[in-house]
Amino acid sequence: MSSVFAGARKRLQNLGKLTGISIPVIESLSRPKATHCASLPIRMDDGSTQYFDAYRCQYSAHLGPCKGGIRFHQKVTQDEVQALALWMTIKCAVVDLPYGGAKGGVTVDPKGLSRMELERLSRAYMRAMADFVGPDKDIPAPDVYTNARIMGWMRDEFEVIKRQKEPAVITGKPVNLGGSLGREEATGRGAFLVTEFLRSKEGLATEDIRVAVQGFGNAGYNIAKLLFDAGYKIIAISDSKGAICDEAGLDVDRVKEFKDQFRSFGSDYCERSVCESVTHKTITHEELLALDVELLVPAALENAITSKNVNDIKAKWITEVANGPISAAADDVLHDRGVVIIPDVLANSGGVIVSYFEWVQNRAGYPWTLEEVRSRMQERLKASFDEMWLYQHKSENTSLRTAAYAKALKKLEQVINMRGTKEYFSNIEN
Ligand code: NAD
Repeated sequence: MSSVFAGARKRLQNLGKLTGISIPVIESLSRPKATHCASLPIRMDDGSTQYFDAYRCQYSAHLGPCKGGIRFHQKVTQDEVQALALWMTIKCAVVDLPYGGAKGGVTVDPKGLSRMELERLSRAYMRAMADFVGPDKDIPAPDVYTNARIMGWMRDEFEVIKRQKEPAVITGKPVNLGGSLGREEATGRGAFLVTEFLRSKEGLATEDIRVAVQGFGNAGYNIAKLLFDAGYKIIAISDSKGAICDEAGLDVDRVKEFKDQFRSFGSDYCERSVCESVTHKTITHEELLALDVELLVPAALENAITSKNVNDIKAKWITEVANGPISAAADDVLHDRGVVIIPDVLANSGGVIVSYFEWVQNRAGYPWTLEEVRSRMQERLKASFDEMWLYQHKSENTSLRTAAYAKALKKLEQVINMRGTKEYFSNIEN
């Protein structure tokens, strides 16, 4: 199986060289600071014990405490967690957050657990990692198949261990447990905003933009809903079980209503698929990605588009809501074909931006209004998007991804050099 981390590292090294970052800095950013591994023994409801592999990668702490989500998924590996932590490092630097990058995960199919088993697993994860996380060390958050409730359990477990209140140890919590207003929608809203910035540069009307959305979880649903409300035509949506399409346009609210209606009480996950909702034609996952649309929104997992299917892609724009949905090789092909890609490190950064706001509110003990959260996120994203756009248009044949990496790596290079002693050795090149 190909290594996601090797792909992420290769992209970092290529873009680092292309944008003039020194070799020692690229080397230093090509490996994680630390990756903690644990085996979590969980008492199941039937009395048996099962063991689950758990990881927390603290990739870089150059710009501040590490920051990144926790994923519960059957395909989680140390390799994947390290790639995601590297991307978090770049993302936090792109949008000027005072954070390094991290990511965590547990190899588990969470839909197969009861709610009690899920709570035991979440608390066991925090017990295993409690020595490594904290408001000034490493601050986790939700990711695929984790949510506010799980963040609440983890905060509670951390406080039991430390015997003191520590709301800022984790973000994406329920609002009444110290969560921020607007955090739940933040990743989708941020991705919607950057798509709107692109649309206004390109001068298209919303009703002329047909959209396919891969993944209908937190991030996928929220961007689909905002695009739909703004008049974009959502013609296809998928989840892990299948995909639906209607050339006349799907009603995103009705699709969501259906999924929510059948949410199982026994678990925290939706048991029914988008395939069982509203009038539609059922298509395959592959067909959704290959639809003739103006905008494709991959909002599920890594490597949705690789060398294998890149030639089938017809979209003109891609907003990368998922982390790493396009492999480096496929990225080059799409770029050469003139497809405009808003890269993950910018497109999905709304989540970590509002997580940062949550951490600030927790530390100040002073909550913000929803309006404050939304307008400050928009301001930050607009500044970052305009910066990337300008860079892209000043240099020939470059991409928004190159612009984002150029900014992040330059910033990291300055900090790495300032903390070090390189200038004492003037005889050393690079
Ligand atoms: P989620 O668990 O809420 O939803 C994941 C969705 O993907 C579900 O609808 C699931 O059915 C679907 N899915 C899984 N495999 C699929 C497949 N092969 N085809 C189609 N759909 C599939 O997760 P999320 O939080 O929405 O995260 C989605 C992506 O966004 C991930 O890459 C995550 O890293 C990224 N992201 C999330 C956040 C956040 O704040 N939640 C922030 C930044 C980036």
